[in-house]
Amino acid sequence: AYNFSPGPAALPETVLRQAQADMLEFGDAGASIVEISHRGPEFLELARQAEADLRNLIEIPDDYAVLFPAGGATTQQALIALNFAAAGQRVDYVVSGHWGRTALKQLVSVDVNVAASGEADGFRTIPARESWRLSKDAAYVHVTANETIHGVEFRPAWGQVPPDTGDVPLFADFSSSIASEPIEVSKYGLIYAGAQKNLGPVGISVVIVRRDLLERAGQPRADIFDYRSQLKGESMLNTPPTWNWYLLGQTVRWMIDEGGTAEFDRRSDVKSTLLYGAIDGSGGFYRNEVAPEVRSRMNVPFFLPDAALDGAFLSGAREAGLIGLKGHRVLGGMRASIYNAMPVEGVQALVDYMQEFQKRHG
Ligand code: PLP
Repeated sequence: AYNFSPGPAALPETVLRQAQADMLEFGDAGASIVEISHRGPEFLELARQAEADLRNLIEIPDDYAVLFPAGGATTQQALIALNFAAAGQRVDYVVSGHWGRTALKQLVSVDVNVAASGEADGFRTIPARESWRLSKDAAYVHVTANETIHGVEFRPAWGQVPPDTGDVPLFADFSSSIASEPIEVSKYGLIYAGAQKNLGPVGISVVIVRRDLLERAGQPRADIFDYRSQLKGESMLNTPPTWNWYLLGQTVRWMIDEGGTAEFDRRSDVKSTLLYGAIDGSGGFYRNEVAPEVRSRMNVPFFLPDAALDGAFLSGAREAGLIGLKGHRVLGGMRASIYNAMPVEGVQALVDYMQEFQKRHG
């Protein structure tokens, strides 16, 4: 089946097949990938290669450190405040959807300024940069590069991407769009992503952070929550999620072999143009309500003319080999997540099914 799940999401078949073999025996290690020590030579080499490949794929400059913390993006949302904002210090948040709102919930002992929010119009737009009320003394400005549920993404048509935040470092949640196009890492203070969309499996995250920011005192925190300690300990202060790290490395290598972020940029254009074209060309049968200049290329929410048709749409889709299309409970309707591992053929199959469904129910 073509899997349109928002995350955990589809992985490339070649990665899964290799994982199947490595689950039984990893190279000549004499044991499964999930059985070998994270301190042993095989795993240390794997971890070194995963970082080197990620640096190559995303073009991460040397003055940026890369961490592979256990856990998801929400954990990083809590940790960034602890690591980079002093107690009571101001932090600026731009909220462009559900995950921006979730990020706010992770903040304690900081002075939160919501510099802009798209909530008033149902997160169908991103407030223009000129309207943001940024603080001069903020520790950082936080944005969500792509909102996985609301289908809203900072796109060049919106204006300047990434937005200019002057001397205050820009922190961005790239969980659902990392590696979908080339980005200029040097424009960000910190980039984080849960892996379970474009980077492979759930259970591990990636944090890319400008090294000088790690010198900030932050707030009192346990050693295990300290990014500086994690960097010193090579993200292995305790036993890391080795299986997840392995799959992440394999997925990154697959993306390099496929042509890197420039190629995924091209494919994302083709796939999202095809799907939005089908929605907009349906004469109003299918609806996507996001302003065109900020429509996500990764997550496409859409609605049928009557929610009573949703069940029939989903069961017919399943029969046609199209799964994971049910929208998030926050929005309802449908959502097609078309990350890097989704081939153009999958989106074409979805479009064909949508047109056929409309003929029967329109
Ligand atoms: N940020 C974004 C943009 C997401 O899409 C998600 C999950 O889908 C999260 C944060 C939360 O990630 P996690 O479940 O890994 O904590």
